[in-house]
Amino acid sequence: MAFEGLADRLQSTIQKIKGKGKVTEQDVKEMTREVRLALLEADVNFKVVKDFVKRVKERAVGQEVMESLTPGQQVIKVVKEELTSLMGGEQSKIAVADRSPTVIMMVGLQGAGKTTTTGKLANLLRKKYNRKPLLVAADIYRPAAIKQLETLGSQLGMPVFSLGTEVSPVEIANKAIEQAKAEHNDYVIIDTAGRLHVDTDLMDELQQIKTNVNPNEIFLVVDAMTGQDAVNVAESFNEQLDISGVVLTKLDGDTRGGAALSIKAVTDKPIKFAGMGEKLDELEAFHPERMASRILG
Ligand code: GDP
Repeated sequence: MAFEGLADRLQSTIQKIKGKGKVTEQDVKEMTREVRLALLEADVNFKVVKDFVKRVKERAVGQEVMESLTPGQQVIKVVKEELTSLMGGEQSKIAVADRSPTVIMMVGLQGAGKTTTTGKLANLLRKKYNRKPLLVAADIYRPAAIKQLETLGSQLGMPVFSLGTEVSPVEIANKAIEQAKAEHNDYVIIDTAGRLHVDTDLMDELQQIKTNVNPNEIFLVVDAMTGQDAVNVAESFNEQLDISGVVLTKLDGDTRGGAALSIKAVTDKPIKFAGMGEKLDELEAFHPERMASRILG
């Protein structure tokens, strides 16, 4: 399960301070040193760790006194609050356009889980919000990707818009939006092309789609298992496209958690959803506070 190593280390660290009726500056220093090592080992971005530890230290040393908690518990509360705010604080929602359809662009590198997540998101929108999404196959370079989305669409019993591989992604997107209006689909989810690495051609194409369809959301799908690489990918997609949020996939795997803990701090964009498995119902809203509780025990 994700974060196991990090959770173990942080829990044993905070256990030491938990019962203390008096917490000295030395205690805080020792605890933050352990927290720092645990985060670095979990592959959290170096600068993010540095800032995090600094904030915890400042708050834990000069902390406000709460009568219901022991000083040890108060220090833990600070760690939990900071961990929550590191991952984005309040959980964010999906945009709704003033006029239907709401358009969501799914972007990301090949293999991150973009197509699967497109299906999962459509499923969630229908199940939880009673929406009627139209899925759009805009990866014109890989016929297999179009086929994959069509298969997902038939599993879900949802329409998939495709014009094959000969029409430009911009035109596909525009025509899909027209069809959605005609057929009363209130969400259009565009599965764009992915590459193995970030490259200019891909970014140009995505920018063109963005400029033309003016999406309400641009969700970047990244693979949590790739740790720091996921953070770097998020940084470059965000620079080029000004994404609105991140979907972190494969959090059910044995990830060290670095991506989940660094992405918000590095890009200032929230993680909106977490992929928790390959099945179409395994997408969850990302709750920073719950995640922090899970990590801290
Ligand atoms: P794309 O190239 O980005 O469109 O990636 P795909 O959607 O084809 O997914 C690549 C692989 O990752 C597939 O085998 C998916 O089943 C798998 N996958 C996607 N999301 C998750 C997830 O949240 N958990 C797990 N375990 N596997 C996932």
